[in-house]
Amino acid sequence: MPKRKTIDRPYVKHPRYGDKPVPSGEKISSEDLKRAHWRYNGLKIFPETAIRADVTKQNYAIYPREVYVDIEEHCRNCGRPFIFFAREQKYWFEVLGFWVDAHCTKCVECRKKEHEIKWMQMRYQALVALEKRSITESKELKAIAMELYQLGYIRDARKFSSNLK
Ligand SMILES: [Zn+2]
Repeated sequence: MPKRKTIDRPYVKHPRYGDKPVPSGEKISSEDLKRAHWRYNGLKIFPETAIRADVTKQNYAIYPREVYVDIEEHCRNCGRPFIFFAREQKYWFEVLGFWVDAHCTKCVECRKKEHEIKWMQMRYQALVALEKRSITESKELKAIAMELYQLGYIRDARKFSSNLK
């Protein structure tokens, strides 16, 4: 059977880190890298991107993540490949305090879209709950409702049109 050709799909571009592995210039041996985190053995990683972690800032039970490295992931939402960047991990695990075994399952575009949708849903609820709306608020509510409807988050068109009067 002929081997299926794999097409190299471009990585989803991250607004801060770009769409290619970022070489770090740090010298970290592949042994150190493999030892640095249990998950690295089963993943596509880019060893030239490795950076040392400050494990004192990490949130872990037994094993910290001693080194961060760019990791190839596939978005659970849109299926496109993306890179979970070493520097992004440093931010997640040392600044935001995320659990050190957490990994990134969605590309930055899908994450952004989700945040926007969550924000719109909250705004929509808040505007709907108002007893009286100004003209500007009514316009905003209508715009948000249309957007949520287009995206499939409001299924019943009648339900939101009655809110818009
Ligand atoms: Zn995605």
